[in-house]
Amino acid sequence: MKKSDPHEFFPYRGGKLFCEEVDLSDLIQKFGSPLYVYSKNAFRSPVERLKKGLEGLPYQIFFAMKSNSNPEILKILLEAGIGVDLVSGGEMRIAKKAGFPGSRMVFSGVGKMADEIEAAVKNEIHSFHVESIPELDLIQEVLEGLFPQGRTTQVALRFNPDVNPKTHPYISTGLRENKFGLEKSEILWIAKNLKRWPRIQFAGLSIHIGSQLLTLSPLKEAFGKLKSCVALFEEQSGLTLNYIDLGGGLGIRYKNENPPTIEAYCKMVQKEWSAWVKKRGGTKIFLEPGRLISGNAGVLLTQVQFRKERKHRTFLVVDAAMNDLLRPSLYGSYHEIVPLDGSTRKGRTTSTDVVGPACETADRFASGRKLPVSWKRGDGLALLSCGAYGFSMSSNYNSRPRPAEVLVQNKEFFLIRAREKIDSL
Ligand SMILES: *Cc1c(COP(=O)(O)O)cnc(C)c1O
Repeated sequence: MKKSDPHEFFPYRGGKLFCEEVDLSDLIQKFGSPLYVYSKNAFRSPVERLKKGLEGLPYQIFFAMKSNSNPEILKILLEAGIGVDLVSGGEMRIAKKAGFPGSRMVFSGVGKMADEIEAAVKNEIHSFHVESIPELDLIQEVLEGLFPQGRTTQVALRFNPDVNPKTHPYISTGLRENKFGLEKSEILWIAKNLKRWPRIQFAGLSIHIGSQLLTLSPLKEAFGKLKSCVALFEEQSGLTLNYIDLGGGLGIRYKNENPPTIEAYCKMVQKEWSAWVKKRGGTKIFLEPGRLISGNAGVLLTQVQFRKERKHRTFLVVDAAMNDLLRPSLYGSYHEIVPLDGSTRKGRTTSTDVVGPACETADRFASGRKLPVSWKRGDGLALLSCGAYGFSMSSNYNSRPRPAEVLVQNKEFFLIRAREKIDSL
């Protein structure tokens, strides 16, 4: 298998689109449409490549579970030995149920609520990644309320390094004008006022500058700023931090992008941090990849409802909608669309809009795309690279029940979430 093929776990075999060794048309027959299908081996592969690339560094990986929070998927990652990066109390509950111990959880997010903090403290999570000074005050207050005798919790301060990640504005998070993280001046103010939070152990600094990053240069720039922020924080506070979290954000190929390979990314991380870590005697490096692990591990299957031909426009109305997959409507993002019957891949094409049934013009998976004129009612299609921010962003808009999810491993397949029933709405 070629490393450069992002869809290596979704090959055509004998003209039919497969996930590993399972014919995707059979899954539509069995479980209906629209349907999310994931490859177990596709989740494992990037984790193994990351582990290999980071060898020698004292590191820990935390999967950003907002990208895909199906408990059965989380179990794959638990088995692979990694932790989870949470952004809500709901995610913590799911991760806990999937078997993650608190020690393998870090909790990020700008608006943590008191009850979420309380639950996380009780669950003894590894640390909170704190994004504001009032959040520190709230964590302090919750700890005082819960444990009058005095128990502490670890936090890392999320530093906003003010770098441009050169990605879609909705998924850039490390610019000064973004809501995320603390500015350097705030971090230094905290360093000088540690006494205000006796229940908090300041254990690390973290960054996460954005998602779907296609070059390493913004990360390198952020790492440089992070190192100088660590030095200043330690100098002002007298503390020694025991971990540095580099965030996630590495991009994947949806269309023809050329994101850095996992190997190139790891090499850069090694180059930037190995010596630094050694000199300090074992500070840990944390990573929080989401999309990199889940993005190309899933597809969304759908069936053509109608072809709608107009003089200047052809619409292919499919049975999946923006409630099932929001990314194209929200970010204008691109997903490859391929037929389950590979024999219809070729032939005459026409400029086509692939749209869903929801009552929004933005309910559109492709606009003016050259697609075969032969595609017709009943044909099965796959939207590729839907493993990240696919199901996890789904909703019930238009009172549509959310789709089922199936996990494939070699020849076997498992229903890992039943299709939602209209009655449950
Ligand atoms: C979303 C998020 C990530 C993961 O982002 P990806 O682009 O999916 O890798 C990592 N860290 C934090 C704090 C996040 O919010």
